[in-house]
Amino acid sequence: MAARWMRRALAVGITVTTAIGAVGAGAARANTGESLKQKVNEIEKKQEQNQNEINRTKDQLNENRSKQKNINDEIADLDHEIQSTTDKIQAKQDDISRTKTQIEALKKDIADTKVRIAERDKLLKERVRSMYINGGSIDYLQVLLGAKSFGDFVTRVLALNTIVDQDKRILNAQKADKARLEAKETQVESQLADLQKDYADLRALQQSLADKKAQHKALLAQLKEDEKHLEKLVMSKQEIAENLAAQKAAAQKAYELWKQEQSNKHKTHRVDGVSGGGTSNVHHGKGLFIWPTSGAISSGFGPRDGGFHSGIDIAAKEGTPVVAAASGVVARSYRSSSYGECIFISHYINGQQYTTVYAHMEKRLVQNGQTVSAGQVIGYVGSTGESTGFHLHFEVYIGAWRAAPTEGAKHPGSVNPLNYLP
Ligand SMILES: [Zn+2]
Repeated sequence: MAARWMRRALAVGITVTTAIGAVGAGAARANTGESLKQKVNEIEKKQEQNQNEINRTKDQLNENRSKQKNINDEIADLDHEIQSTTDKIQAKQDDISRTKTQIEALKKDIADTKVRIAERDKLLKERVRSMYINGGSIDYLQVLLGAKSFGDFVTRVLALNTIVDQDKRILNAQKADKARLEAKETQVESQLADLQKDYADLRALQQSLADKKAQHKALLAQLKEDEKHLEKLVMSKQEIAENLAAQKAAAQKAYELWKQEQSNKHKTHRVDGVSGGGTSNVHHGKGLFIWPTSGAISSGFGPRDGGFHSGIDIAAKEGTPVVAAASGVVARSYRSSSYGECIFISHYINGQQYTTVYAHMEKRLVQNGQTVSAGQVIGYVGSTGESTGFHLHFEVYIGAWRAAPTEGAKHPGSVNPLNYLP
């Protein structure tokens, strides 16, 4: 959260500095006011373009979300269809299992009937053999030989025939049973085949529904990824919008300052090289700025400890007010790891941009884009950042603030503040 805020503040700060810096480069020209106005127009054009892009991206987001909704609806329909197919498959499996049980029972009945037929057939054959082929069974012969009269003999023969006929009837009935059972088995087997075909069809349907669902899910995942990307795009464009708004405000304020300066043009700035009349023009900016705080110089501008001190240190008690060295626009107001609580102010003086830096403060009172007047309290002396005691580290740049190319090296554009102070 804090990092994000810092990043944004930094981004705004840099763009403000750059916007003014770009104008400052051409500020030596007489038409500084015109170029600032032009800058405002350019920023407005960028704002409009950026807003169009935001709207376009938001339209894409809406389209994406509506597609996602449709696909989710379709997935819900598919889930419903898959559920109903699964139910049908379950019912079909039950039918198949019932039919198989039925077939097993029929097979068992058929097998039992076959056994009974074989037994009856065997019995019948034995009886017939006993009757017609003498010597088979003693009992039959004895039955016949035991006849007391011819009439009794005939009766006995008829009785034996009756037994055989009965056996034949039973056998035929059993054979009919077997035929009926086999026909039933054929019919049920055919039912089973139908059921199994239905089952296979349902499984195929279930598979195709599952495939369709997987495709929808993949599409949905792609849309979600696109959505995330579009959301990020909107966010970054909204950051750009904020930056442009800050740039525009800074450019407008710079324009106002320029107008003020135009109206005060008759007032001469004391510039030693010109008004001093002397031969030396080293201190050509003398008095351009006022002292940002009161105290003794504890470290000057120039080489120091094998590096370069790009400003001056003004030792002061903790809490001593720090003031803007000239009127201008706050380009950056933030906490830096090295500068501590620090403020950068952009100034336009005689068509030239300058930047002043106030570092290691205890507290900052002004924000990015704010207009400040010379002598306005902007913070208090502290010892924040890379500092070993209470002091104000003060830098002056011709143009915008620029970082040192390597650590400890001179910051490009930095000048000795003493040459610009009274
Ligand atoms: Zn310093």
